[in-house]
Amino acid sequence: MNSADAQRDHLLSRMRLRIEQDIFVVRQFGREVARAAGMESQDQTRLATAISEVARRMVALGRDVEVAFFASAVQHPAVRVEMVSPITDGQEHLVPHLAQVGRLVDTMEVDDGDTGTTVRMSRRLPPGAPPLTRDRMTEIREGLAAHVPGTPLDELAVQNQQLISALDEVRAQRDDLARLNAELEETNRGVMALYHQLSEELEETNRGVVALYAELDEKSVQLRTASEAKTRFLANVSHELRAPVTAIIGLGRLLVDTSSSALDPEQSRQVELIRSSATDLLALVNDLLDLAKAEAGRMEPNWSDVDLRAMFGQLRGTLRPLATRPEVDFLVEEPAVPHLLSDEVMLAQVLRNLLTNALKFTATGSVRLTAQRVDDDVEFTVADTGAGIPAELHERIFEEFYQVPGAKPLNGTGTGLGLPYARRLVGILGGAMRVSSEPGIGSTFTVCLPLRQP
Ligand code: ADP
Repeated sequence: MNSADAQRDHLLSRMRLRIEQDIFVVRQFGREVARAAGMESQDQTRLATAISEVARRMVALGRDVEVAFFASAVQHPAVRVEMVSPITDGQEHLVPHLAQVGRLVDTMEVDDGDTGTTVRMSRRLPPGAPPLTRDRMTEIREGLAAHVPGTPLDELAVQNQQLISALDEVRAQRDDLARLNAELEETNRGVMALYHQLSEELEETNRGVVALYAELDEKSVQLRTASEAKTRFLANVSHELRAPVTAIIGLGRLLVDTSSSALDPEQSRQVELIRSSATDLLALVNDLLDLAKAEAGRMEPNWSDVDLRAMFGQLRGTLRPLATRPEVDFLVEEPAVPHLLSDEVMLAQVLRNLLTNALKFTATGSVRLTAQRVDDDVEFTVADTGAGIPAELHERIFEEFYQVPGAKPLNGTGTGLGLPYARRLVGILGGAMRVSSEPGIGSTFTVCLPLRQP
């Protein structure tokens, strides 16, 4: 077959229907065409049934019906049937019935014009069917020409046979369905068992989690109680210590007072030592008391409009005496934010603490205090070019009594309570404190406070 042939339908046979008996003939013939073209038995029956159904309706309309069979290779190899009646159906007899018949074939269309009615249908050949070559089509044509139609009784016998095989197939399908149902039931049982097992495991896990939470709650209550006890203890001890230590300092001062002193120089030196130790002890006791108060939540901020310029001026003045080294520039810059709603005493205490630390640990370079606005916050930074703190200790320095091992303050001493206290105060003021620092380069402590209180 050349390509032009491939685009055309090839007439295989033609016949004319006049009387009802012809319906049997066309049915037989249709099956014969389907068989000759290579369709399987079920498809032969489908096509034959569709043809005979349409034929029945068209013969009922009256007059002759022309039936033509084609081998079609327009898109896919198929058998195409065209049935033409000279009578117009008026959409009444044929169309409503053909929807169901149409399912037996691949395409079906009804052309219901003024000059008559044409029904076209086609059914594809299966993939394994012999190709529709020119020789093959001649062979089919000759076979059809030689075909002798049987009697209606023959056709009935054939139909019976087809009915039996269809019934067999239905039975086989029913058996398949029953088997599938049984399998499905089995699977369902499996799924249900798995579901039960999973929900039991989930319940078990939930019970465990609930118990764990109960234990956690209990532990956190114990922790809170222990922490409160510690705070109470610190507050009481430091309070009780303050009076005797202050007395020791006073007495020491009296003893070494040159006008009334009956001590020789060595005794004076020793009393001076006692006095200086007692002063350190008093500083520690005071720090402890402050921290205990802050931890006990007994410190309420006294909110007011803080004049930052004035506060910075005061810090500059009071800390200048500590910045004794000519190698260190002590710089308190003008604050970029002039006012802030905060607690003046607490904020000054925090900044003083950070500046004192910076001066204590900076041998050369600078110690600088700044304040600027960042979004809805005010950021205070205390930056120094001092000893610095290793990264792994950045959190530990906020623990009570922790001091970086080997770090010696250049002047004064320390208790290790300054930073934890400062961080608490910043928390009370609704802000946060962070540090960035590198050994040998310096440290920057940043205090971030909200510009407006909620
Ligand atoms: P201290 O009374 O010892 O200063 P802090 O709680 O204020 O206690 O500080 C804890 C430790 O953190 C200090 O002992 C010091 O080792 C380290 N530290 C704090 N500030 C600085 C700083 N600016 N530079 C270097 N080390 C610092």
